[in-house]
Amino acid sequence: QVVTRFAPSPTGFLHIGGARTALFNLLFARHHGGKFLLRIEDTDRARSTDQAISAILDGMRWLNLDWDGEEVYQFSRAARHAEVAREMLANGHAYKCFATAEELEAMRAEQKANKQPLRYDGRWRDRDESEAPEGAPYVIRLKAPREGAVTIEDHVQGPVTVNNAELDDLVLLRSDGTPTYMLAVVVDDHDMGVTHVIRGDDHLNNAFRQLPIYRAMGWEEPEYAHIPLIFNPDGTKMSKRKNAVAVDEYRDQLGILPEALSNYLLRLGWGHGDDEIISREQAIEWFELSGVGRSPSRFDLKKLESLNGHYIRASDDARLASLVAARLGFELSESQADLLRRSMAALKPRAANLLELAEGAGFLFRTRPLELDEGAKALLEGDARALLAQLHTALDGVESWDTEALEAAVRTVAEDAGVKLGAAAQPLRAALTGRRTSPGIFDVLALLGREESLARIADQMT
Ligand code: GLU
Repeated sequence: QVVTRFAPSPTGFLHIGGARTALFNLLFARHHGGKFLLRIEDTDRARSTDQAISAILDGMRWLNLDWDGEEVYQFSRAARHAEVAREMLANGHAYKCFATAEELEAMRAEQKANKQPLRYDGRWRDRDESEAPEGAPYVIRLKAPREGAVTIEDHVQGPVTVNNAELDDLVLLRSDGTPTYMLAVVVDDHDMGVTHVIRGDDHLNNAFRQLPIYRAMGWEEPEYAHIPLIFNPDGTKMSKRKNAVAVDEYRDQLGILPEALSNYLLRLGWGHGDDEIISREQAIEWFELSGVGRSPSRFDLKKLESLNGHYIRASDDARLASLVAARLGFELSESQADLLRRSMAALKPRAANLLELAEGAGFLFRTRPLELDEGAKALLEGDARALLAQLHTALDGVESWDTEALEAAVRTVAEDAGVKLGAAAQPLRAALTGRRTSPGIFDVLALLGREESLARIADQMT
């Protein structure tokens, strides 16, 4: 059975690159009818806060990245990690290193002076612990193979080979008894039954340090897939300065729907022909690691927003209205909430995000007399106010307040005044919404209703 995992370090927020890694792990597992697990790598106690953990869990739930079972907290498994280090010591695959910090410092200084790679030289590899002073502190190091090479058949990167001579005997257990990151990852992946390690390609080098641990323990090795990182449009590494990197920023500040972000992240680095709009079900059916590209992906906010616009148009009005309501900054009455929901059909076609939707809905709840912005004021200069008076009369006479009847009335006024429809619609828009852009003017009239519309027009006639 296929088992994948997402193993974020809780250092503040859920990075969108991480979210994509999680998505790929989930899709691969679901595609193969396997399991998708979550492990919180919270061993850095200074940086791992409850808040950072919640940000990850919330972000994953929001993106519908449901993991199987309970999440595993790495720090809680420290005793198990230490136990494995001791086992490796007992079976001769690890050794105690008593080198002091000063000693290692001097070793590195010498390597540096000789322009050699900085690397632990194995000075305790073949020594007996009786040579160390009584009770001296030590670390446990892996006795890594020195000859030969390791080749990983990476599902994305292809075969990658590293000579063992380039790797040193890494520390497994620190002198205070705490496990290192390399040890913890391997022990956890093994114990969780992970068969496929799918993660960012910044971890490719780590795979060569992790494999010897599997081999020393005689554990089955996982398959690897290291996916290229996400870059800014200009090819620099995705950073806060150029783009939002936290999933919650896309949700809260940019008004992106989860299915849009998920679809976008899927397409960022994975492809299925020319398909752009891909549902979760479809993605599960299609997802293969062979579809993951080897070149870095470039983040494109415009593309994300265009997908978001698609999902906004496809979305249920009641859901959209409640998302928009949460952004308005005030409580809606029941009738206002109903009005907001009815307005979605008119607002949806133009909105690329929830901010635009909320901004577009703003006119519904402005109180009379409306405060006009500069653009709207300009529309009411000249003859516009006289035209408004004629529109008021005509609209007042409309029998059934529906878009067809309203359009007919406005057209008649425009014709009688010898102006284009737009010349009548613009002052009307200014009076009704206080802005120069809004949904279609007949939708605006219909949504506001007879009484409110006529009152807003009357407010601006003089
Ligand atoms: N905790 C690591 C990170 O957040 C990932 C480790 C792994 O996937 O092996 O970058």
